[in-house]
Amino acid sequence: MRAFVLTSPGAWEVQELPAPVAGPGEVVVDVERVGVCGTDVEFFTGAMAYLHQGHSAYPMRPGHEWAGRVAAAGEGVDTRWLGRRVMGDTMLGCGSCRRCVLGRQHLCEKRREVGIRGGQSGALAEQLAVPASSLHALPDSVDPVLGALVEPGGNALRAARAAAPRPGDRVLVLGPGTIGLLVAMFLRAADAEVHLMGATEDSLVFARGLGFEHVWPEGSVPDLPFDAVIDASNAAHLPGSALELVEPGGRLVYIGLAGEPSRIDTRTLALKDVTAVGILSGSPGLDATIHAYATGTVDPRPLVAATVGLTEVGPVLAGERPPGAGLGPKIHVDPRPSMATGPL
Ligand SMILES: [Zn+2]
Ligand SMILES: [Zn+2]
Repeated sequence: MRAFVLTSPGAWEVQELPAPVAGPGEVVVDVERVGVCGTDVEFFTGAMAYLHQGHSAYPMRPGHEWAGRVAAAGEGVDTRWLGRRVMGDTMLGCGSCRRCVLGRQHLCEKRREVGIRGGQSGALAEQLAVPASSLHALPDSVDPVLGALVEPGGNALRAARAAAPRPGDRVLVLGPGTIGLLVAMFLRAADAEVHLMGATEDSLVFARGLGFEHVWPEGSVPDLPFDAVIDASNAAHLPGSALELVEPGGRLVYIGLAGEPSRIDTRTLALKDVTAVGILSGSPGLDATIHAYATGTVDPRPLVAATVGLTEVGPVLAGERPPGAGLGPKIHVDPRPSMATGPL
């Protein structure tokens, strides 16, 4: 099978590899769709912290936002998975430590992460082997595009829930990238008054096109009481701005990660009586996200700007926009040969 492999910072190959075999407890999935995200870009550039902490190493195959169909089941796996469309949890906890036992396997010290950490190969390939225990079945109404948006959606749903809006509450989202826009969609579905702040004109235009009317460039956010502020940006100064912007008694949600430490003044946090929440991983939000997509409560498909084949992943990770791409923040990959080789 063909697979996309990063061999060193900035270097990649599409390799012909032996097809994976489902080991005990595992399934092999025919991958139908994969999302490319900022984490993959960090592995491409070499900036990703896990590379420097010994959690990850080249050569590696990224891809953690995926959907596909189960093609083979290993020993001990329920054969009813065969033929099912699924997505999989990125986080693979050890299953036996205190955090795993408490249901927080996404925080397991010894966890592997599909396409990210612990040598667990990702989904940028025609086939992927993963533990059956990590699978989530997708109903027919969740197509492969939606399925590959469940993982980022799980992150966003958790961030939106952490903001805990009551109907009519005013919530400001900083950073209209994939996560920020998904958060905004979940907040809108909860009847919040959603405001978005972005850095580039294109991102603001795109957000307006999704039907968000309160869209502001930085520095132009109106002086209104925001019941919650969510930082979904990668700007080191915005976590501090979020604390300035939130209404006393309100909630702050931090899901964005900057390339350097962000500082907030905890005196302001205390004096404003604000609750601050950090979010890592979509794991505890995957089922609720699948339900929201299946019922049409949230439809994030407009976020996908283009779908490319495996040979075009390298240029995308290097920052190139595929020809004909829209303004949306998400690029999808169809790793199947028909897509990769184009029409005959
Ligand atoms: Zn991602
Ligand atoms: Zn564990």
